[in-house]
Amino acid sequence: MTLNLNQPDLFRDRAFIDGQWVQAAEARTFPVFNPSTGSTLASVPDLGADETRAAIDAAEKALKPWQALTAKDRATLLRNWFNLILKNQDDLATIMTSEQGKPFAEAKGEVAYGASFVEWFAEEAKRIYGDVIPAHGADKRLLTIKQPIGVVAAITPWNFPIAMITRKVAPALAAGCTVVIKPGEDTPLCALALAELSQQAGIPAGVLNVVTTLQAPEVGRALCEDSRIRKLSFTGSTPVGKLLMRQCADTVKKVSLELGGNAPFIVFDDADVDAAIFGLMASKFRNAGQTCVCTNRILVQDGVHDLFVEKLNAAVRKLKTGDGFGEAVTIGPLINDKAVNKVRGLVNDALANGALITQQNSGTPDNPNFYPPTVLTGVTAGMRIAQEEIFGPVATVFRFTEESEAVELANDTPFGLAAYFYSRDIGRVWRVAEALEYGMVGINEGLISTEVAPFGGIKESGIGREGSRYGIDDFVEIKYLCMGGL
Ligand code: ADP
Repeated sequence: MTLNLNQPDLFRDRAFIDGQWVQAAEARTFPVFNPSTGSTLASVPDLGADETRAAIDAAEKALKPWQALTAKDRATLLRNWFNLILKNQDDLATIMTSEQGKPFAEAKGEVAYGASFVEWFAEEAKRIYGDVIPAHGADKRLLTIKQPIGVVAAITPWNFPIAMITRKVAPALAAGCTVVIKPGEDTPLCALALAELSQQAGIPAGVLNVVTTLQAPEVGRALCEDSRIRKLSFTGSTPVGKLLMRQCADTVKKVSLELGGNAPFIVFDDADVDAAIFGLMASKFRNAGQTCVCTNRILVQDGVHDLFVEKLNAAVRKLKTGDGFGEAVTIGPLINDKAVNKVRGLVNDALANGALITQQNSGTPDNPNFYPPTVLTGVTAGMRIAQEEIFGPVATVFRFTEESEAVELANDTPFGLAAYFYSRDIGRVWRVAEALEYGMVGINEGLISTEVAPFGGIKESGIGREGSRYGIDDFVEIKYLCMGGL
């Protein structure tokens, strides 16, 4: 099936290694589906460990010449890539909605968001400064320089098929590293379109490689065990992140992990309830609830609980579920029927343990990949839905009385990615912001992601920060130079 693109070259169904579009051994492929219709969009190469090593060979070969460019030259190439991504925003969004399902307007938003990391790190490439350190002896001078860490492996998920790649690849390339990308198996076409644009931008062969595969464990092992890969940057589930970290131990690789979350969204009695509903709708229902910073638990204080639930039901009723290309659609399909079954299982468990459905939309397409937007009230900490990432359009409301109880509930999880709360009391704002054990906190704000701020979690939500001026740190090594005998 071909898509209606202005630039048909963006539709690529081969892997990208050393600047070449390649097939797998024996032309082995796997299908890419449109989750909304179930139709097959493409068949892409199902590469294995040997081809992964070929991609590492290419990245290794490209590393020295790429490092040897001036920062300004690398910045120019990144800026070319940024311009091409934006110029092809509609085509990239068409590919994204087709393979991932999110509404077209949201897909365009992600393309712009993804591009913003390329722009930002094109700028940061020129600001990778070292230090001059006051010396401990009169005959010495001490300095630090920052050097690229080497070949980087980037393993990325399907929920943000462009932004999760650019957020890793742009800082890596800016620092002077080369990369091997293994995109999510549900969304390889966005990754391949980005590779095509990188080539058009003039980024040299071997600097950016894309290994498409259905054999994630085999390819993952080949990347982790290869001593030439000096850094793994992973976004995905916590169990896979832990496995990859273990696999990287033998070669002592630097790892960055963006893993699962269990975001609380606390609404205090003194909150602006309408603003809280507005923030929640974006935080909970964006991408049909399939983001790692999506609200997972809504904690509402007694005094505003009933009003909040009434307004939430009304807001959810307005959501329109359907094909991502459909008019005014705000909720697309989930990525596959396995995801729908997981959400259904969590909701059933909550209902069996005393939760109530106060809103569930009708008019959901008759297709196993869709789940209707739903509001559950009476949710409590012991239910599975309070402990696991829902990754679907289900809002779960808890009730609390005291501020300390809300903070305790919010922190009662092994995860620590994003948290949100609404309050107009300045004392409470500081107290709660400092008490929440999370890497990111939205205060009277439901959308916090931007290329200018550090994204990342604590506890079992991960290691490292992406975006912002800190985002380069994970891709450089600090070298200390001690000059004596002066
Ligand atoms: P999600 O729930 O987002 O699909 P996963 O952790 O399963 O989370 O997937 C994120 C990425 O990790 C995908 O690219 C997937 O193919 C990859 N992946 C899954 N299992 C492994 C593994 N054992 N080794 C390496 N990569 C893996």
